[in-house]
Amino acid sequence: MSNLEVEPAEVVFDGDPAEGIQLLEPREVPLGGPRAMTVRRTLPQRARSLIGAWCFLDHYGPDDVTAREGMVVPPHPHTGLQTVSWLFAGEIEHRDSTGAHQLVRPSEVNLMTAGNGIQHSEVSTAATTVLHGAQLWVALPDRDRHVAPFFEHAVVAPQPLGEATVRVFVGELAGSGAGAASNVTAFTPLLGLQLDLPAGATVDVPLDTSFEHGLLIDSGEATLDGAAVPVAHLAYVGTGRSSVRVTAGEHPVRALLIGGTPLGEPIVMWWNFIGRDHDEIVEFRARWQGDVIDSGDATGRFGTIEGWPGRALPAPELPTVRLKPRD
Ligand code: MN
Repeated sequence: MSNLEVEPAEVVFDGDPAEGIQLLEPREVPLGGPRAMTVRRTLPQRARSLIGAWCFLDHYGPDDVTAREGMVVPPHPHTGLQTVSWLFAGEIEHRDSTGAHQLVRPSEVNLMTAGNGIQHSEVSTAATTVLHGAQLWVALPDRDRHVAPFFEHAVVAPQPLGEATVRVFVGELAGSGAGAASNVTAFTPLLGLQLDLPAGATVDVPLDTSFEHGLLIDSGEATLDGAAVPVAHLAYVGTGRSSVRVTAGEHPVRALLIGGTPLGEPIVMWWNFIGRDHDEIVEFRARWQGDVIDSGDATGRFGTIEGWPGRALPAPELPTVRLKPRD
């Protein structure tokens, strides 16, 4: 997915981890076009920019897309990050400039490492009646952020955890001895999983004490350590915790748990790019506009996509002030 805001705000992260539990509210963001979808964004926001290296979380649906267009995101670039696509319902077709062409469905993960630069497109398929899921980004650490781009897809097996079921799509459930682990590539210690809990059930989810975590509630009446977490909200838990207790009320709970060691690096995020300073972002934008939008040069940083019938997305104008990482 792309950040399709017309005037994307500059977002500067200092990487400082906070302590305790923090309830983060979703912000509704229209992804552009009068009939296009609206997402609920919980990362980044003013109160919190990062959870581990997770730097972006859009949650959407369930949307009935039988009578209208679903997800249609034309080719757009990324740098310095990974995108993670995870669905609860529906089917999305991905194409990128590494030549990857892959459908993703529930219980499958599409993970795209942008590294030095990539472009991709995403559309929900004609067979999709209900579209429901999440798009997440992971910031790459400085030492790895210039890697050549690559794409991975994996089918994720459900694993029992007490009365609950987990599907680990990135990283490994703490203490599971790789019994609940994903084989897609992570560049920093990272966790991403779907948690399903039957109505009335309780589960203690083991955590890596060096990680900070976020629990996004997709459905059901959930509590985290006894505190209610409303649907579409993200509950942040700081480092130093060896477990959290999640309970379900009258209805089953479905949630995403993300986590990782605090990134600890200042980053600059603008539109679909992550860099380290203003000049780098300016250069990324110039290459996208010059190589792809203006000249269609397939040999540039962002390559080309085979099989997309339309045009790529032009970058918005840069803000008039310099993008500056916080000290
Ligand atoms: Mn994207």
